[in-house]
Amino acid sequence: MKPKIAVHKFTSCDGCQLAFLNLGEQLLEVFELVDIVHFAEAGAVDPEATVDVAFVEGSISTPHELERIRRVRANSKYLITIGACATAGGLQALRNGAHSADWLSQVYASPQYIDTLADSTAIARHVKVDLELWGCPVNGRQVLAALRALLFGVAPLNDADKVCIECKRHQTVCVLVAHGVPCMGPVTRTGCGALCPSFGRDCYACYGPAENSNTESLSRRFAGLGLMPVDIARRFRFINSAAPAFATAWQVSGEGERN
Ligand code: SF4
Ligand code: SF4
Repeated sequence: MKPKIAVHKFTSCDGCQLAFLNLGEQLLEVFELVDIVHFAEAGAVDPEATVDVAFVEGSISTPHELERIRRVRANSKYLITIGACATAGGLQALRNGAHSADWLSQVYASPQYIDTLADSTAIARHVKVDLELWGCPVNGRQVLAALRALLFGVAPLNDADKVCIECKRHQTVCVLVAHGVPCMGPVTRTGCGALCPSFGRDCYACYGPAENSNTESLSRRFAGLGLMPVDIARRFRFINSAAPAFATAWQVSGEGERN
């Protein structure tokens, strides 16, 4: 019998599921190795199925999602989060610094119909997660590599190196040193192939914090480039603002008191 796979969606934009689908022909090979029993974006719907591996996209933002993630965990042997929303609360976690009751009435004409939690949180805050794959969106190749590893009984690679390492491997000119742009690569987790610097752009940390990120030192470097504290805080308070290493970094930069 083939192992069973499910792909679940919580609060998210579906971009990580699309990264999965964009694997194209490689996905057809995956279909030969596993049974995909729940993946609404691809057509299979059986959300309560018991599976060997559950991939989870999206953050926990509503009481209903809180109940649902507990059932997903109970029905799965391995649970892997995919993307910034599932691993760190996502862009929507920017609301965690405000009071939800205040903004609900400002955003919605009929806020009484909105049933939301005060915060947007990562899946690991609520249930045990076996592997976290970062990125906004996640890299389809990483998803495939994790799945292959599990199918062959090997522990999946948890690559937490910095984007800088990939720039060096690809001999990409450092945009921070050569052009003085505030690149987040020195504190950001690898996995994208240093995509933005390879096009001469600064990294904006969509892969979240790398291991041993020296956010304080990078903040000082940004200040040396002329960035004001509020601009430094915005570099950290973006897609992965609720990831612990970045959350404390922007508080250190002096902007945390505003909320
Ligand atoms: S991590 Fe990014 S691409 Fe993935 S669901 Fe969240 S917002 Fe969309
Ligand atoms: S270089 Fe940075 S912002 Fe660009 S894709 Fe990679 S992690 Fe994301």
